Amino acid sequence: MWDFIIIGGGILGMSTAMQLQQAYPDKRLLVLEKEQGPAQHQTGHNSGVIHAGVYYTPGSLKARFCLEGNRATRAFCDEHGIAYNICGKLLVATNEVEKQRMEALWERTAANGLQREWLEVGALREREPNITGVAGIFVPSSGIVDYAEVTRAMAATFERLGGSIRYGAEVTALEERRQEVVVSTADERLTSRYLVSCSGLMADRVIRMLGQTPDFTICPFRGEYYRLPEQHNQIVNHLIYPIPDPAMPFLGVHLTRMIDGSVTVGPNAVLALKREGYRKQDVSLGDMGRMLTHPGILKVLGRHLRPGLVEMKNSLYKRGYLELVRKYCPSLTADDLLPYTAGVRAQAVSNDGKLVDDFLFVNTRRTLNVGNAPSPAATSALPIGAHIVQQVADQLIE
Ligand SMILES: Cc1cc2nc3c(=O)[nH]c(=O)nc-3n(C[C@H](O)[C@H](O)[C@H](O)COP(=O)(O)OP(=O)(O)OC[C@H]3O[C@@H](n4cnc5c(N)ncnc54)[C@H](O)[C@@H]3O)c2cc1C
Repeated sequence: MWDFIIIGGGILGMSTAMQLQQAYPDKRLLVLEKEQGPAQHQTGHNSGVIHAGVYYTPGSLKARFCLEGNRATRAFCDEHGIAYNICGKLLVATNEVEKQRMEALWERTAANGLQREWLEVGALREREPNITGVAGIFVPSSGIVDYAEVTRAMAATFERLGGSIRYGAEVTALEERRQEVVVSTADERLTSRYLVSCSGLMADRVIRMLGQTPDFTICPFRGEYYRLPEQHNQIVNHLIYPIPDPAMPFLGVHLTRMIDGSVTVGPNAVLALKREGYRKQDVSLGDMGRMLTHPGILKVLGRHLRPGLVEMKNSLYKRGYLELVRKYCPSLTADDLLPYTAGVRAQAVSNDGKLVDDFLFVNTRRTLNVGNAPSPAATSALPIGAHIVQQVADQLIE
Protein backbone atom coordinates (compact mmCIF):
# COMPACT_ATOMS: atom_id res chain seq x y z
CA MET A 1 0.00 0.00 0.00
CA TRP A 2 1.33 3.45 -1.00
CA ASP A 3 0.57 6.54 1.05
CA PHE A 4 0.31 8.78 -2.02
CA ILE A 5 0.19 8.06 -5.71
CA ILE A 6 0.66 11.08 -7.97
CA ILE A 7 -0.44 10.81 -11.59
CA GLY A 8 1.64 12.87 -14.04
CA GLY A 9 5.34 13.53 -14.52
CA GLY A 10 4.93 17.11 -15.74
CA ILE A 11 6.09 20.08 -13.68
CA LEU A 12 2.99 20.05 -11.45
CA GLY A 13 3.21 16.33 -10.67
CA MET A 14 6.92 16.53 -9.88
CA SER A 15 6.62 19.75 -7.86
CA THR A 16 3.79 18.22 -5.82
CA ALA A 17 5.61 14.89 -5.34
CA MET A 18 8.79 16.65 -4.22
CA GLN A 19 7.00 18.90 -1.73
CA LEU A 20 4.77 16.11 -0.39
CA GLN A 21 7.85 13.97 0.23
CA GLN A 22 9.54 16.92 1.95
CA ALA A 23 6.46 17.41 4.16
CA TYR A 24 6.03 13.68 4.89
CA PRO A 25 9.52 12.16 4.77
CA ASP A 26 8.35 8.80 6.18
CA LYS A 27 5.47 8.26 3.77
CA ARG A 28 5.70 6.07 0.66
CA LEU A 29 5.12 8.11 -2.49
CA LEU A 30 4.89 6.97 -6.11
CA VAL A 31 4.64 9.02 -9.32
CA LEU A 32 3.04 7.27 -12.32
CA GLU A 33 3.81 8.78 -15.73
CA LYS A 34 2.64 7.22 -18.96
CA GLU A 35 5.56 8.50 -21.06
CA GLN A 36 9.14 7.22 -20.86
CA GLY A 37 10.46 10.33 -19.07
CA PRO A 38 9.34 13.55 -17.35
CA ALA A 39 8.05 16.74 -19.03
CA GLN A 40 6.99 15.17 -22.33
CA HIS A 41 3.81 17.22 -22.79
CA GLN A 42 2.95 20.84 -21.86
CA THR A 43 5.96 21.19 -19.56
CA GLY A 44 8.36 20.31 -22.38
CA HIS A 45 6.56 22.27 -25.11
CA ASN A 46 6.16 25.84 -23.92
CA SER A 47 7.68 29.32 -24.21
CA GLY A 48 9.88 28.87 -21.14
CA VAL A 49 8.81 32.22 -19.70
CA ILE A 50 8.98 32.85 -15.96
CA HIS A 51 5.93 35.09 -15.96
CA ALA A 52 5.74 38.15 -13.72
CA GLY A 53 1.94 38.17 -13.30
CA VAL A 54 0.83 40.99 -15.61
CA TYR A 55 -2.54 39.85 -16.87
CA TYR A 56 -4.30 37.95 -14.11
CA THR A 57 -7.39 39.07 -12.21
CA PRO A 58 -6.20 40.60 -8.91
CA GLY A 59 -6.89 38.21 -6.07
CA SER A 60 -7.12 35.15 -8.34
CA LEU A 61 -5.03 32.04 -7.73
CA LYS A 62 -3.21 32.80 -10.98
CA ALA A 63 -2.22 36.29 -9.79
CA ARG A 64 -1.11 35.03 -6.38
CA PHE A 65 0.71 31.88 -7.48
CA CYS A 66 2.39 33.56 -10.44
CA LEU A 67 3.91 36.28 -8.26
CA GLU A 68 5.04 33.73 -5.66
CA GLY A 69 6.12 31.32 -8.39
CA ASN A 70 8.32 33.89 -10.10
CA ARG A 71 10.38 34.22 -6.91
CA ALA A 72 10.22 30.52 -6.01
CA THR A 73 11.35 29.40 -9.49
CA ARG A 74 14.40 31.65 -9.33
CA ALA A 75 15.27 30.40 -5.84
CA PHE A 76 14.86 26.76 -6.96
CA CYS A 77 17.10 27.38 -9.99
CA ASP A 78 19.73 29.06 -7.79
CA GLU A 79 19.67 26.12 -5.41
CA HIS A 80 19.96 23.52 -8.19
CA GLY A 81 22.36 25.31 -10.54
CA ILE A 82 19.78 25.71 -13.34
CA ALA A 83 20.35 28.49 -15.87
CA TYR A 84 17.72 31.25 -16.05
CA ASN A 85 17.74 34.85 -17.16
CA ILE A 86 15.58 37.65 -15.80
CA CYS A 87 15.65 39.55 -19.07
CA GLY A 88 12.42 41.52 -18.52
CA LYS A 89 9.40 41.82 -20.75
CA LEU A 90 8.13 44.60 -22.96
CA LEU A 91 4.44 44.90 -23.82
CA VAL A 92 4.13 46.92 -27.02
CA ALA A 93 1.09 48.89 -28.23
CA THR A 94 1.14 49.44 -31.99
CA ASN A 95 -1.89 51.75 -32.29
CA GLU A 96 -4.18 53.95 -30.21
CA VAL A 97 -6.72 51.18 -29.44
CA GLU A 98 -3.94 49.00 -28.08
CA LYS A 99 -2.56 51.95 -26.13
CA GLN A 100 -5.93 52.29 -24.38
CA ARG A 101 -5.92 48.58 -23.57
CA MET A 102 -2.37 49.02 -22.33
CA GLU A 103 -3.59 51.61 -19.84
CA ALA A 104 -5.90 48.97 -18.35
CA LEU A 105 -2.92 46.60 -18.11
CA TRP A 106 -0.92 49.35 -16.42
CA GLU A 107 -3.60 49.50 -13.69
CA ARG A 108 -3.70 45.74 -13.43
CA THR A 109 0.07 45.44 -13.00
CA ALA A 110 -0.22 47.92 -10.11
CA ALA A 111 -3.05 45.91 -8.54
CA ASN A 112 -0.93 42.77 -8.89
CA GLY A 113 1.98 44.43 -7.10
CA LEU A 114 4.44 44.48 -10.00
CA GLN A 115 7.27 46.86 -10.61
CA ARG A 116 6.94 48.35 -14.10
CA GLU A 117 7.86 51.30 -16.28
CA TRP A 118 5.75 53.19 -18.86
CA LEU A 119 7.69 53.87 -22.07
CA GLU A 120 6.76 56.51 -24.62
CA VAL A 121 7.91 56.08 -28.25
CA GLY A 122 11.44 57.47 -27.75
CA ALA A 123 12.19 55.33 -24.69
CA LEU A 124 10.71 52.28 -26.42
CA ARG A 125 12.97 52.74 -29.44
CA GLU A 126 16.00 53.29 -27.24
CA ARG A 127 15.38 50.06 -25.35
CA GLU A 128 14.46 47.99 -28.43
CA PRO A 129 15.75 49.52 -31.71
CA ASN A 130 14.14 46.73 -33.82
CA ILE A 131 10.69 47.11 -32.28
CA THR A 132 8.08 49.58 -33.47
CA GLY A 133 5.19 50.82 -31.37
CA VAL A 134 3.41 53.88 -30.00
CA ALA A 135 4.11 53.05 -26.33
CA GLY A 136 5.11 50.17 -24.08
CA ILE A 137 5.21 48.80 -20.55
CA PHE A 138 8.47 47.32 -19.32
CA VAL A 139 8.19 44.64 -16.63
CA PRO A 140 11.65 43.82 -15.27
CA SER A 141 10.81 40.63 -13.32
CA SER A 142 9.89 38.40 -16.29
CA GLY A 143 12.50 35.86 -17.26
CA ILE A 144 13.28 32.64 -19.12
CA VAL A 145 14.20 29.10 -18.14
CA ASP A 146 13.94 25.53 -19.46
CA TYR A 147 10.99 24.03 -17.55
CA ALA A 148 11.92 20.49 -18.59
CA GLU A 149 15.23 20.98 -16.78
CA VAL A 150 13.44 22.37 -13.72
CA THR A 151 11.14 19.31 -13.75
CA ARG A 152 14.07 16.88 -14.03
CA ALA A 153 15.65 18.57 -10.98
CA MET A 154 12.38 18.23 -9.04
CA ALA A 155 12.18 14.54 -10.00
CA ALA A 156 15.78 13.96 -8.91
CA THR A 157 15.13 15.72 -5.57
CA PHE A 158 11.99 13.63 -5.03
CA GLU A 159 13.90 10.40 -5.68
CA ARG A 160 16.76 11.49 -3.45
CA LEU A 161 14.24 11.97 -0.64
CA GLY A 162 13.06 8.37 -1.12
CA GLY A 163 10.19 8.82 -3.60
CA SER A 164 9.59 6.38 -6.48
CA ILE A 165 8.78 7.15 -10.11
CA ARG A 166 7.49 4.71 -12.71
CA TYR A 167 7.61 5.78 -16.35
CA GLY A 168 5.67 4.01 -19.09
CA ALA A 169 2.88 3.52 -16.51
CA GLU A 170 -0.43 4.83 -17.81
CA VAL A 171 -3.25 4.90 -15.29
CA THR A 172 -6.23 3.24 -16.97
CA ALA A 173 -8.75 2.91 -14.13
CA LEU A 174 -9.38 4.25 -10.63
CA GLU A 175 -11.65 3.19 -7.83
CA GLU A 176 -12.07 5.26 -4.68
CA ARG A 177 -12.97 3.14 -1.66
CA ARG A 178 -13.53 4.03 2.00
CA GLN A 179 -9.95 3.33 3.10
CA GLU A 180 -7.97 3.52 -0.13
CA VAL A 181 -7.84 4.30 -3.83
CA VAL A 182 -7.25 1.43 -6.27
CA VAL A 183 -5.08 2.55 -9.20
CA SER A 184 -4.78 0.30 -12.26
CA THR A 185 -2.20 0.46 -15.03
CA ALA A 186 -1.80 -2.01 -17.90
CA ASP A 187 0.68 -4.00 -15.79
CA GLU A 188 -0.47 -3.77 -12.20
CA ARG A 189 -3.10 -2.89 -9.66
CA LEU A 190 -1.89 -0.63 -6.87
CA THR A 191 -3.51 0.70 -3.74
CA SER A 192 -2.84 4.04 -2.12
CA ARG A 193 -4.28 5.91 0.85
CA TYR A 194 -4.48 9.09 -1.27
CA LEU A 195 -4.24 10.09 -4.89
CA VAL A 196 -3.15 13.37 -6.50
CA SER A 197 -3.77 13.86 -10.21
CA CYS A 198 -1.70 16.36 -12.23
CA SER A 199 -2.52 14.87 -15.60
CA GLY A 200 -2.63 18.01 -17.77
CA LEU A 201 -4.39 17.37 -21.06
CA MET A 202 -6.05 14.27 -19.54
CA ALA A 203 -7.23 15.99 -16.32
CA ASP A 204 -10.97 15.59 -16.95
CA ARG A 205 -10.59 11.96 -18.05
CA VAL A 206 -8.79 11.04 -14.82
CA ILE A 207 -11.56 12.75 -12.81
CA ARG A 208 -14.12 10.71 -14.77
CA MET A 209 -12.21 7.51 -13.94
CA LEU A 210 -13.09 8.27 -10.30
CA GLY A 211 -16.78 8.14 -11.20
CA GLN A 212 -17.08 11.94 -10.93
CA THR A 213 -18.74 14.11 -13.59
CA PRO A 214 -16.73 17.32 -13.86
CA ASP A 215 -18.66 20.37 -15.04
CA PHE A 216 -15.93 21.09 -17.60
CA THR A 217 -13.98 19.37 -20.31
CA ILE A 218 -10.40 19.88 -21.44
CA CYS A 219 -10.17 21.62 -24.81
CA PRO A 220 -6.75 21.27 -26.44
CA PHE A 221 -5.39 24.39 -28.16
CA ARG A 222 -2.27 23.92 -30.26
CA GLY A 223 0.30 26.69 -29.97
CA GLU A 224 2.49 26.80 -33.06
CA TYR A 225 5.90 28.44 -33.04
CA TYR A 226 8.62 29.43 -35.48
CA ARG A 227 12.27 29.93 -34.66
CA LEU A 228 14.35 32.83 -36.01
CA PRO A 229 17.67 32.13 -37.79
CA GLU A 230 20.74 32.35 -35.58
CA GLN A 231 21.79 35.73 -37.00
CA HIS A 232 18.67 37.18 -35.32
CA ASN A 233 19.51 35.88 -31.84
CA GLN A 234 20.21 39.48 -30.74
CA ILE A 235 17.21 41.05 -32.49
CA VAL A 236 15.57 41.86 -29.13
CA ASN A 237 16.89 42.55 -25.66
CA HIS A 238 13.74 41.54 -23.80
CA LEU A 239 10.67 39.33 -24.30
CA ILE A 240 8.35 41.22 -26.66
CA TYR A 241 4.59 40.80 -26.24
CA PRO A 242 1.69 42.41 -28.09
CA ILE A 243 -1.16 43.95 -26.09
CA PRO A 244 -3.71 41.12 -25.85
CA ASP A 245 -7.27 41.58 -26.99
CA PRO A 246 -9.27 41.17 -23.74
CA ALA A 247 -11.91 39.21 -25.67
CA MET A 248 -9.30 36.54 -26.55
CA PRO A 249 -8.06 33.96 -24.06
CA PHE A 250 -4.38 33.81 -25.08
CA LEU A 251 -1.57 36.33 -25.07
CA GLY A 252 -0.89 36.73 -28.78
CA VAL A 253 2.19 35.85 -30.83
CA HIS A 254 5.28 37.06 -29.01
CA LEU A 255 9.04 37.14 -29.58
CA THR A 256 10.68 35.02 -26.92
CA ARG A 257 14.34 34.79 -26.14
CA MET A 258 14.97 31.19 -25.16
CA ILE A 259 17.45 30.08 -22.53
CA ASP A 260 19.60 28.38 -25.23
CA GLY A 261 20.13 31.79 -26.89
CA SER A 262 17.67 31.32 -29.78
CA VAL A 263 14.53 33.41 -30.36
CA THR A 264 11.10 31.91 -31.02
CA VAL A 265 7.99 33.52 -32.49
CA GLY A 266 4.62 32.37 -31.19
CA PRO A 267 2.54 30.69 -30.05
CA ASN A 268 -0.76 31.13 -31.88
CA ALA A 269 -3.86 29.28 -30.63
CA VAL A 270 -5.68 26.83 -32.89
CA LEU A 271 -8.09 24.11 -31.85
CA ALA A 272 -6.09 20.85 -31.77
CA LEU A 273 -7.75 17.85 -33.35
CA LYS A 274 -5.96 15.53 -30.92
CA ARG A 275 -5.19 16.10 -27.23
CA GLU A 276 -1.51 15.26 -27.47
CA GLY A 277 -1.20 16.00 -31.20
CA TYR A 278 1.82 18.18 -31.94
CA ARG A 279 1.72 18.03 -35.74
CA LYS A 280 -0.96 19.70 -37.87
CA GLN A 281 -1.89 16.33 -39.35
CA ASP A 282 -2.43 14.67 -35.94
CA VAL A 283 -6.12 13.81 -35.69
CA SER A 284 -8.02 11.66 -33.20
CA LEU A 285 -11.57 10.97 -34.32
CA GLY A 286 -12.47 10.09 -30.72
CA ASP A 287 -11.11 13.37 -29.32
CA MET A 288 -12.74 15.36 -32.13
CA GLY A 289 -16.09 13.63 -31.70
CA ARG A 290 -16.13 14.35 -27.96
CA MET A 291 -15.09 17.97 -28.51
CA LEU A 292 -17.57 18.74 -31.23
CA THR A 293 -20.49 17.33 -29.27
CA HIS A 294 -19.62 19.12 -26.01
CA PRO A 295 -22.12 21.96 -25.50
CA GLY A 296 -19.53 24.21 -23.78
CA ILE A 297 -16.94 23.84 -26.53
CA LEU A 298 -19.57 24.44 -29.21
CA LYS A 299 -20.55 27.69 -27.47
CA VAL A 300 -16.91 28.81 -27.21
CA LEU A 301 -16.32 28.01 -30.89
CA GLY A 302 -19.46 29.88 -31.87
CA ARG A 303 -18.51 32.93 -29.81
CA HIS A 304 -14.95 33.04 -31.15
CA LEU A 305 -15.78 31.92 -34.70
CA ARG A 306 -14.21 34.83 -36.56
CA PRO A 307 -10.93 35.08 -34.61
CA GLY A 308 -10.79 31.26 -34.59
CA LEU A 309 -10.96 31.15 -38.39
CA VAL A 310 -8.30 33.88 -38.65
CA GLU A 311 -6.02 31.82 -36.35
CA MET A 312 -6.60 28.77 -38.57
CA LYS A 313 -5.82 30.77 -41.69
CA ASN A 314 -2.62 32.12 -40.14
CA SER A 315 -1.69 28.60 -39.08
CA LEU A 316 -1.96 27.42 -42.68
CA TYR A 317 -0.45 30.52 -44.35
CA LYS A 318 2.89 31.63 -42.99
CA ARG A 319 2.40 35.14 -44.42
CA GLY A 320 -0.64 35.73 -42.20
CA TYR A 321 1.35 34.57 -39.18
CA LEU A 322 4.26 36.79 -40.21
CA GLU A 323 2.00 39.87 -40.27
CA LEU A 324 1.15 39.33 -36.58
CA VAL A 325 4.79 39.74 -35.61
CA ARG A 326 5.63 42.34 -38.27
CA LYS A 327 3.16 44.67 -36.55
CA TYR A 328 5.83 45.31 -33.92
CA CYS A 329 8.95 43.85 -35.58
CA PRO A 330 8.71 45.03 -39.20
CA SER A 331 12.17 43.92 -40.35
CA LEU A 332 11.29 40.19 -40.22
CA THR A 333 10.55 38.37 -43.49
CA ALA A 334 8.91 35.04 -44.30
CA ASP A 335 12.36 33.46 -44.74
CA ASP A 336 13.08 34.31 -41.10
CA LEU A 337 10.37 31.97 -39.83
CA LEU A 338 11.98 28.55 -39.46
CA PRO A 339 10.10 25.43 -38.29
CA TYR A 340 9.84 24.79 -34.55
CA THR A 341 7.86 22.24 -32.50
CA ALA A 342 4.36 23.14 -31.34
CA GLY A 343 2.82 22.76 -27.87
CA VAL A 344 -0.73 21.83 -26.88
CA ARG A 345 -2.43 23.73 -24.06
CA ALA A 346 -4.92 22.05 -21.74
CA GLN A 347 -7.67 24.63 -21.33
CA ALA A 348 -10.77 23.72 -19.32
CA VAL A 349 -14.08 24.77 -20.86
CA SER A 350 -17.15 24.76 -18.60
CA ASN A 351 -20.34 23.01 -19.66
CA ASP A 352 -22.00 26.43 -19.98
CA GLY A 353 -19.42 27.58 -22.51
CA LYS A 354 -16.78 29.58 -20.61
CA LEU A 355 -13.02 29.23 -20.82
CA VAL A 356 -12.19 28.55 -17.18
CA ASP A 357 -9.93 31.44 -16.29
CA ASP A 358 -8.36 30.49 -12.98
CA PHE A 359 -6.53 27.42 -11.74
CA LEU A 360 -9.10 24.85 -10.69
CA PHE A 361 -8.97 21.85 -8.34
CA VAL A 362 -11.51 19.06 -7.94
CA ASN A 363 -11.29 17.16 -4.66
CA THR A 364 -12.97 14.04 -3.36
CA ARG A 365 -12.45 12.38 0.04
CA ARG A 366 -9.22 10.62 -0.90
CA THR A 367 -8.20 12.46 -4.05
CA LEU A 368 -6.97 15.89 -5.14
CA ASN A 369 -7.18 16.62 -8.85
CA VAL A 370 -5.76 19.57 -10.77
CA GLY A 371 -8.55 20.37 -13.22
CA ASN A 372 -7.32 23.51 -14.97
CA ALA A 373 -3.68 24.60 -15.00
CA PRO A 374 -2.84 26.50 -18.18
CA SER A 375 -0.18 29.24 -18.35
CA PRO A 376 1.27 30.54 -16.02
CA ALA A 377 1.18 27.11 -14.32
CA ALA A 378 4.82 26.31 -15.14
CA THR A 379 5.88 29.55 -13.41
CA SER A 380 3.45 28.75 -10.58
CA ALA A 381 4.41 25.07 -10.17
CA LEU A 382 6.10 25.48 -6.77
CA PRO A 383 3.23 27.41 -5.10
CA ILE A 384 0.66 25.09 -6.74
CA GLY A 385 2.53 22.09 -5.27
CA ALA A 386 2.65 23.85 -1.88
CA HIS A 387 -1.08 24.57 -2.13
CA ILE A 388 -1.77 20.87 -2.76
CA VAL A 389 0.40 19.90 0.23
CA GLN A 390 -1.61 22.38 2.33
CA GLN A 391 -4.90 20.91 1.11
CA VAL A 392 -3.62 17.46 1.99
CA ALA A 393 -2.80 18.67 5.49
CA ASP A 394 -6.20 20.39 5.86
CA GLN A 395 -8.48 17.82 4.31
CA LEU A 396 -6.99 14.45 3.83
CA ILE A 397 -4.69 13.27 6.55
CA GLU A 398 -6.82 11.97 9.38
C1 LIG B 1 2.35 26.45 -26.05
C2 LIG B 1 2.44 26.66 -24.57
C3 LIG B 1 3.16 27.74 -24.04
C4 LIG B 1 3.23 27.92 -22.67
N1 LIG B 1 4.05 28.89 -22.17
C5 LIG B 1 4.20 28.98 -20.82
C6 LIG B 1 5.14 29.88 -20.27
O1 LIG B 1 5.91 30.52 -20.99
N2 LIG B 1 5.20 30.01 -18.92
C7 LIG B 1 4.39 29.31 -18.08
O2 LIG B 1 4.47 29.49 -16.87
N3 LIG B 1 3.51 28.41 -18.58
C8 LIG B 1 3.43 28.21 -19.92
N4 LIG B 1 2.59 27.28 -20.44
C9 LIG B 1 1.79 26.48 -19.52
C10 LIG B 1 2.59 25.36 -18.87
O3 LIG B 1 3.44 24.72 -19.79
C11 LIG B 1 1.61 24.34 -18.27
O4 LIG B 1 0.64 25.04 -17.53
C12 LIG B 1 2.31 23.36 -17.35
O5 LIG B 1 3.40 22.74 -18.02
C13 LIG B 1 1.32 22.32 -16.86
O6 LIG B 1 2.03 21.30 -16.21
P1 LIG B 1 1.31 19.92 -15.89
O7 LIG B 1 2.27 19.13 -15.08
O8 LIG B 1 -0.04 20.22 -15.32
O9 LIG B 1 0.99 19.28 -17.31
P2 LIG B 1 1.88 18.39 -18.30
O10 LIG B 1 3.24 18.92 -18.45
O11 LIG B 1 1.07 18.25 -19.54
O12 LIG B 1 1.99 17.01 -17.56
C14 LIG B 1 0.90 16.11 -17.39
C15 LIG B 1 1.49 14.71 -17.39
O13 LIG B 1 0.49 13.77 -17.03
C16 LIG B 1 0.72 12.59 -17.76
N5 LIG B 1 -0.50 11.80 -17.79
C17 LIG B 1 -1.72 12.18 -18.27
N6 LIG B 1 -2.61 11.19 -18.11
C18 LIG B 1 -1.97 10.16 -17.51
C19 LIG B 1 -2.36 8.86 -17.11
N7 LIG B 1 -3.62 8.39 -17.28
N8 LIG B 1 -1.43 8.04 -16.52
C20 LIG B 1 -0.14 8.46 -16.32
N9 LIG B 1 0.29 9.71 -16.73
C21 LIG B 1 -0.61 10.54 -17.29
C22 LIG B 1 1.13 13.11 -19.15
O14 LIG B 1 1.82 12.13 -19.91
C23 LIG B 1 1.98 14.31 -18.78
O15 LIG B 1 3.36 13.99 -18.70
C24 LIG B 1 2.53 27.06 -21.80
C25 LIG B 1 1.83 25.95 -22.32
C26 LIG B 1 1.82 25.74 -23.68
C27 LIG B 1 1.15 24.50 -24.22
